[in-house]
Amino acid sequence: MIGMNTLFRNPWIVTMNDDFEMIRNGYVYVVEDKISEVGSDPMRMAQLSLEADSVIDAADKILMPGMVSAHTHLFQTFMRGLADDLELYPWLSTQVWPFSELMTEEDFYYAGLIGCLENLKTGATSCIDQHYIFTSLNNGDHIFEAMRDSGIRGNMCRCFANIVYYEKFREEDQDRILDDIKRLHSQWAGTENGRLSLSVGPLNPWGVSPDLFQKSKQLSKDLGVKFQVHTAEDQDVVTKTAAMYDGMRNLEFFDSLGILDEDTQLAHAIWLDDHEMEILEKRRCQPIHCPVANAYLADGVARVPEMLKMGLPVALGTDGPGSNNAQDMLGTLKYTALMHKNHNLNAHIISNKDVLTMATRNGAVAMGMDGQMGQIVPGMKADIILVDWKKPHIAPVHHPESALVNNANGNDVDTVMVNGEIVVRNKKSTKIDEIALIDECQKRIEYIKSKM
Ligand SMILES: [Zn+2]
Repeated sequence: MIGMNTLFRNPWIVTMNDDFEMIRNGYVYVVEDKISEVGSDPMRMAQLSLEADSVIDAADKILMPGMVSAHTHLFQTFMRGLADDLELYPWLSTQVWPFSELMTEEDFYYAGLIGCLENLKTGATSCIDQHYIFTSLNNGDHIFEAMRDSGIRGNMCRCFANIVYYEKFREEDQDRILDDIKRLHSQWAGTENGRLSLSVGPLNPWGVSPDLFQKSKQLSKDLGVKFQVHTAEDQDVVTKTAAMYDGMRNLEFFDSLGILDEDTQLAHAIWLDDHEMEILEKRRCQPIHCPVANAYLADGVARVPEMLKMGLPVALGTDGPGSNNAQDMLGTLKYTALMHKNHNLNAHIISNKDVLTMATRNGAVAMGMDGQMGQIVPGMKADIILVDWKKPHIAPVHHPESALVNNANGNDVDTVMVNGEIVVRNKKSTKIDEIALIDECQKRIEYIKSKM
């Protein structure tokens, strides 16, 4: 609760600080919404135990910064497992779009809420939700309400397409889109003690007109927010875009529009050739890597180790639960490491530290909170998770960072704090009746399916 001071006693701390320091039997003291002290002196810990409003015994836990899922589509919780074994376009056109069209305003709230809850309970304290279904302008507000009620640190990336897309989803004209971004920003950004924020999200290179790309990029600069676009997600996207724009590949097209800079986030960024890698290095965009979804749709493998070598703050996402089918960020860590090692036939091409950095510190960059969270360091926002390591599939532990990447999964997350508030304790939401929510969501998807 805001105004409360909380002490975590005796955790094994993965600080993610500049020295990648681990602290055994340490303590973390949280004052209101920020980390105030981190250490291991038993005398000081005993003293803080008396001062704290709440003391959490974390002796069996690894404590780490909450992770950021930097690219998802929360509403797709309602269509996970709707149809497996399809490639991107047929999956979208025969399943995701017709189902989404039938969702009511209220459905978006419930789909968003169960998605936020899953994110929190599997270790993501923040998520960037690229929301692109605006059959009603209220849909975006319902996503924000779900973020608010779940307790997550949420960024809604207001998404749009205006030229080529499923007909129902591109009926918005430019003015309606830009006005709605401004309205949502003024209504929601910075609310809930700064927990909610907004970014601007053109859907993909072929669905948005060049003019709207430029106008929306300018608006994102005016508002001081991030700009996120699906980029080179599969080979089909590259071919489609090249056919429309003089054979230009995705990053060549974006660069010709002048919309690439360090506040531009490229979701997926898989099919980039050497020339595009040069553009990426020069423009310093932020790639958002979603390895599980990429594998699920057989999209390909992004050149992440090269991007990391360029010093780009590559962040991690789960992508929508439609194409994952989960939102498990702890599970994503292992998948990220394994995918690149195997793909490159090189076991040291990516390290545990790289993967954890992508999920935490680089995630903070994606949220527009670089240097404000993503590390267990005094002054940082108190977004913290405790992972239960005394389990047969994790213990014994030599290196906690290895246990997090290679052993733990989302079900091992025990406690979650966001902005200084405990939102999950003993694996249960402190804010939402989970069983009632699941029953409500099940009822709703069965009804929608019956209408399809
Ligand atoms: Zn996506």
